[in-house]
Amino acid sequence: MDERALDKLKLQELLRRHPADLAEIISALNEEEAVELVRRLYERQAAAPLGEMEPEAAARLLSQLTRDEAIRILSHMDPDDAADLLAELPKETMREILARLEPTKAKTIQTLLSYPPDTAGGLMSPEVLALPAHMRAYEAIQFIRRKAEEKETIYYAYVVDEENRLLGVLSLRDLVLAPLNTPIAKLMNTDVVTLPPDMDVEEVARLFDKYNFLALPVVDAERKLLGIVTVDDVMDVMRKEATEDLLRVGGIPSGEDMPLDPPISSVKKRLPWLMGLVILNLSVASLVSRFEATIAELAFVAALMPLIADMSGNAAAQALTVAIRGMALGIVDWKDLPRVLWKELRVGLLAGLGLGVEIGIISALLWKKPLFGMVAGLALAGTTMGACLTGGAIPFLFKRLRLDPAMMSGPVATTIGDLIGIGLFLSLVTVFRGQLL
Ligand code: ATP
Ligand code: MG
Repeated sequence: MDERALDKLKLQELLRRHPADLAEIISALNEEEAVELVRRLYERQAAAPLGEMEPEAAARLLSQLTRDEAIRILSHMDPDDAADLLAELPKETMREILARLEPTKAKTIQTLLSYPPDTAGGLMSPEVLALPAHMRAYEAIQFIRRKAEEKETIYYAYVVDEENRLLGVLSLRDLVLAPLNTPIAKLMNTDVVTLPPDMDVEEVARLFDKYNFLALPVVDAERKLLGIVTVDDVMDVMRKEATEDLLRVGGIPSGEDMPLDPPISSVKKRLPWLMGLVILNLSVASLVSRFEATIAELAFVAALMPLIADMSGNAAAQALTVAIRGMALGIVDWKDLPRVLWKELRVGLLAGLGLGVEIGIISALLWKKPLFGMVAGLALAGTTMGACLTGGAIPFLFKRLRLDPAMMSGPVATTIGDLIGIGLFLSLVTVFRGQLL
């Protein structure tokens, strides 16, 4: 078999895969190979996997193709995917491509581009199945047969009046199970859960979670049907947001910092924060220097300072993660702060007791000074309580100040924990200085 035939065979093999698998394969290739593969697929075949890829990656790939190739692929793409992809291209390129797409398609995409990407409008597909209210069940089924291809989903049909205002909803199941002659107006459910186009994705996700529908319709202020948001789109966005939040907890300011990015781009994002934290940490250093006399006299206490500081950071980080997660999920907000603090106080008390006893016994044995064990235990117990309270409170304060709570809460809480821990430990040591000598 010659090489061409073999290649063709492999291509056919690839095309049997799901577009999402194909998207994964394309993403794993280097740029040259990816372009090569996309070129070999027919436009229609390339459109689906490109729509499944991360929009930034798909846009990068598309800009390697000729303008004509790009336009032909885009014209086969679902408008919501095409809009996401175009949004990643330079404004000039985007305008040029839009001008050359088929006018109705271009208009749809342009409307989608006008909604912020993290809103229901930005997520929706305009290809929603809308049925005129006068239809009977059999007419609706015929209608769906004809239109199914171009609709985002046909599991739900939305019933509209002449002005495209939403009147009700019925599922495919409702429709096929009904006697053929039933008017759909009789079948439909008129108590429809809808999304306004400007609703934030987090709120959209909450509604999906609450009602468990596969899709929700988007309507404007006059109840005109604009589009449909399907659960898979919401999942994509939520996964992205979750990753961004996680990165930010570590004090990495931008969600764009990725494991395999060039080092210099990661350094640019991280170093400014780290440099700022050096200044913040100098406050701990200046606190320590106030106790110079004590440390000089009782040098052995210095051995426990890193442990106290680290543990305060650990306890704060736990409380903080719980608070940020709670806020992100909408379980708690500012008004719940007292309840959260009351809870963290009790957690800190019990955890502190446990840790205090642990370190107390160990230090008493190691240094053969029961009093030092008691001082260390007390300091760690107090620190743990302080750290739990700090970690629990800081994300709420940040949010209140309109700062992103996920961004710098971690480092700030850790430093405050250090201040409390080291301050308490060295103060106690100073108080018992005479007996510890
Ligand atoms: P299946 O559960 O087998 O997928 P189903 O018909 O039960 O089929 P569901 O997704 O469970 O489909 O929907 C249940 C009902 O919810 C349907 O009768 C449908 O009319 C209704 N429904 C769908 N979307 C909405 C909505 N946005 N607001 C209110 N009701 C809706
Ligand atoms: Mg059901």
